[in-house]
Amino acid sequence: MTKLLEGKKGLILGVANKRSIAWAIAQSASAQGAQLAFTFQGERLEENVRELAGTLPGSLVFPCDVMMEDQVDTLFEKLREKWGRLDFMAHCVAYAKAEDLEGSYLKTKKDGFDTALGVSAYSLTLVTQKAAPLLEAAGGGSVVTLTYLGGERVAPGYNIMGVAKAALQSSVRYLAYDLGPKNIRVNAISAGPINTLAARGITGFTDILKMAREKAPLKRNTETAEVGDTAMFLFSGLSRGITGQTIYVDSGYSILAF
Ligand code: NAD
Repeated sequence: MTKLLEGKKGLILGVANKRSIAWAIAQSASAQGAQLAFTFQGERLEENVRELAGTLPGSLVFPCDVMMEDQVDTLFEKLREKWGRLDFMAHCVAYAKAEDLEGSYLKTKKDGFDTALGVSAYSLTLVTQKAAPLLEAAGGGSVVTLTYLGGERVAPGYNIMGVAKAALQSSVRYLAYDLGPKNIRVNAISAGPINTLAARGITGFTDILKMAREKAPLKRNTETAEVGDTAMFLFSGLSRGITGQTIYVDSGYSILAF
């Protein structure tokens, strides 16, 4: 049987280590025949990312801190030189200062607000803007980002990241509207809580995992592979009629009233 992403080229932003949701997305896409490019944020993560990417033959690796526009420009210039087109992109990047992920949201300062919104929300617009010509060169494409229910409802402690995710989800809809005529689709996956490096920064995360597991209709926590497979579906032609949406991969937790 032909693989769903055979011959397609995809960019994965946000692998930090093997627990990263971005890495599960990469594995699902690779299993369906895609060739991948990865980015790493800073030298600290370079070795991890190179080691993981090395397990998927033909992968490319580039530095990219989304707060440094010159690095973003260089990344897409390199992809243009190597591939000349791009079929899909996974944006799996978020950050907030530790002090803004505890206590009350009320105390948030402007620099913490700007940092969280810049890295976690604006970066999707930036990389989609830069990727658009390459996605267009492929005759259209698919962009997927990752969000959390805390962007729509209050998840105590999630604070500024919830505000950033609200901006991210709204960006998904506006980008989908702008790029739809070019056959470029933009969607978000709202994942249930998963124990990753980023999640460890959230106060009481172990309790959040336990509560999600006990209450969710499927009675288990979300696995990164479940998110990976949904992203793969969103990259593939099977999802060709879907854009501007947030799809929940959370064991059903988000349907509950309480
Ligand atoms: P992770 O720590 O593995 O990934 C976060 C990534 O963001 C890292 O690779 C980090 O290098 C990158 N990043 C941070 N600042 C950056 C910058 N300035 N430039 C470039 N990259 C930068 O954790 P994860 O949980 O896999 O997070 C991936 C995405 O999934 C995030 O958007 C997160 O909010 C979202 N998400 C996570 C959960 C969860 O419970 N883990 C749930 C829903 C959504």
